[in-house]
Amino acid sequence: MIRTRFAPSPNGPLHLGHAYAALVAHDLARARGGEFLLRIEDIDGTRSRADLAEQALEDLRWLGLVWDGPVVSQSDRLATYQAAGERLKAMGLLYPCQCTRAQIAAAATRQGPDGLIYPGTCRGRDVDTQGAAWRLDMTRAVALAGSLVWEDDIAGPQQARPELFGDVVLLRKEAPASYHLAATLDDAADGITLVTRGADLFMASHVHRLLQALLRLPVPCWHHHALLVEPDGRKLAKRRDAPSLADRRLAGEDGPALARALREGRLPAGLSLSTGVASYEPRP
Ligand code: GLU
Repeated sequence: MIRTRFAPSPNGPLHLGHAYAALVAHDLARARGGEFLLRIEDIDGTRSRADLAEQALEDLRWLGLVWDGPVVSQSDRLATYQAAGERLKAMGLLYPCQCTRAQIAAAATRQGPDGLIYPGTCRGRDVDTQGAAWRLDMTRAVALAGSLVWEDDIAGPQQARPELFGDVVLLRKEAPASYHLAATLDDAADGITLVTRGADLFMASHVHRLLQALLRLPVPCWHHHALLVEPDGRKLAKRRDAPSLADRRLAGEDGPALARALREGRLPAGLSLSTGVASYEPRP
């Protein structure tokens, strides 16, 4: 049976891009008689807000979306993330890192899919573990996991290339786990068979596939959907002025009618759907 999920981070109000993502995940599941789950990605205690999580549920109900089972919250799963981190440490795959952002920016020379590639400063060094972030030793991890493939149901089969990211942080200084570790563990725990999310996270799936292999987790299929973009080609973002779903809802707009319009590709003026964000080629 197919099971998808929508996994918003409650650090800002949902906007039309989220509505589109939720509809895609919901409709893919329902079209095949499957289940649609809702997960609140509130692992970052400093940025997540309970009122925004509550507001997100209201927004989804307003759109006419119904999810299966109880809402899952990452803040309930901290012990799971910690246990996985300990397992990876015991496998000799994590090392502590005390570098600041500024130090990394000064020392890094290469760009990866998600910003600068960590230059490996703390790898193999005797670093104080107190308050440290823990990074994956990517070379070791890739050597252990061997060649991996994963499947995107739009883009087709993919050779996993997690090495493009370098030594990613898995246990963060200021939060219990990184997005990569938490999302991978959650999708496994929730029995997600089709990981549905925006094309801006396409490359992250390379890392998630590696983590699945290292932690012996089931391997789902992926669906990276197009993103709603503004006239300048940039995706709608919470930090810019995308009108929130809550504003529309409270202004009395018809939620199911908006959902219908998004499903039919009738987008508000100035917005379009872009798939052009899925590709990435490493820059020298
Ligand atoms: N929480 C992420 C976001 O709001 C989604 C992550 C995912 O779907 O894997 O962008």
